Amino acid sequence: MSHTSAQLDVIIAGAGIGGLATALALRQHGHRVRIYERATELTEVGAGLQVSPNSTRVLDSLGLGSGLARTGVRPVRLESRDWQDGRLLGVHAMNTDPPQYGAYHYLIHRAELLDILTEAVPSQLVHLGRAVTDVVRNDDRVTVRLSDGETVSGDLLIGADGIHSTVSTVMFGTSRPRFSGTVAYRALLPAHEAEDLKLENTSTKWWGPVVEHHLVHYFVNSGSTVNIIAVVPEDDWQTESWTAQGEPDDLANAFKDYAWPIPDLVKRAGTPLKWALHERDPLQRWCTGRVALLGDACHPMVPFLAQGSAMAIEDAAVLARCLDQVSRVGVERALQTYEATRKARTSRIQQGARVDTPETWKLRDWIYEYDATSTPLIDPTNTLSTITDGDTAT
Ligand SMILES: Cc1cc2nc3c(=O)[nH]c(=O)nc-3n(C[C@H](O)[C@H](O)[C@H](O)COP(=O)(O)OP(=O)(O)OC[C@H]3O[C@@H](n4cnc5c(N)ncnc54)[C@H](O)[C@@H]3O)c2cc1C
Repeated sequence: MSHTSAQLDVIIAGAGIGGLATALALRQHGHRVRIYERATELTEVGAGLQVSPNSTRVLDSLGLGSGLARTGVRPVRLESRDWQDGRLLGVHAMNTDPPQYGAYHYLIHRAELLDILTEAVPSQLVHLGRAVTDVVRNDDRVTVRLSDGETVSGDLLIGADGIHSTVSTVMFGTSRPRFSGTVAYRALLPAHEAEDLKLENTSTKWWGPVVEHHLVHYFVNSGSTVNIIAVVPEDDWQTESWTAQGEPDDLANAFKDYAWPIPDLVKRAGTPLKWALHERDPLQRWCTGRVALLGDACHPMVPFLAQGSAMAIEDAAVLARCLDQVSRVGVERALQTYEATRKARTSRIQQGARVDTPETWKLRDWIYEYDATSTPLIDPTNTLSTITDGDTAT
């Protein structure tokens, strides 16, 4: 448990993975938080999610390790395979004892991760059905307007309101994210229906004829379900909805020429969900005055490195550490330190996800080794220098 010399009153827009992780990290550092969430209930459909060691390390520090261990699956390897002959192109041993990269790699259903986070945040701090619609003051305090017309004030505002962030649009006039030209089919299959396919406890990525054509499968739900994410290029589908459905035949046809067992696996996947993948170039700025963006609101990325929520969780840990300096450097400077510390990494991963190939597989070492709970904080006035926790940034 860290401590801070200044207790701040923090407003968070969005109770997704990033907003909830931020609330937990800030409370651990002694701050008061209120989350305003547009949705009227915190439900999650979606499908599987990889919680890589860099993300687990932060969740462990927030006291969520036992929750992850209860429902998450620990794969023994991450594999990369060729679509035509199934040849192994790359392999990372994971979850050895002690674990590779110093923390476990989990495979989990999004709903399970959201439950673990939600249970740790007192429910009275989460205000559902109240979207942030505007920022009406940003000087010695920040005041936001909510969808019910009420205004609320605090010491700072964190916009963790996702890829279509209202906070980002209001503060920076950010343009709409760009359609990546790829869609993801997502399906969950009872593991017993795939028993004869002899899938191992791995997270396996099958690289297709072009890098935008690939398939990842792994077990979730304590091993009782196979999660499939199948990505294909497609120009004319731009729907972003966790509940939009795709055609089973389209999925089966797209992967019919892959090596066994992929054609059989996708044929059994039932009706998949279909999700258009959007992305954005790295933003010029993430913070202004007492307002900062976090998670997909500032660095949405295609999910080819499985790092979107991991980056939001890392952001939360670094932000909380930067705010420890507030009594000496002020809120604005602390937020600039957060941006300076995080941006180079998230930009590299945003760009790396786009061009992920079997040859760039090694980038994963650099991604997984990072420790957001101790990485040096970067002085925003001199991005070549670093500062240590508790130092002034001057
Ligand atoms: C197909 C696919 C596979 C993925 N796989 C992985 C993976 O394996 N590993 C990984 O780490 N990441 C993965 N990701 C990425 C991950 O899902 C996102 O990066 C992550 O959910 C971002 O979290 P967030 O909290 O920033 O945003 P979100 O999860 O989008 O949460 C934003 C929240 O803000 C709320 N909101 C929106 N507007 C407002 C407003 N104006 N006021 C108040 N509330 C508002 C929303 O209702 C929502 O609850 C994947 C993504 C996709 C599409």
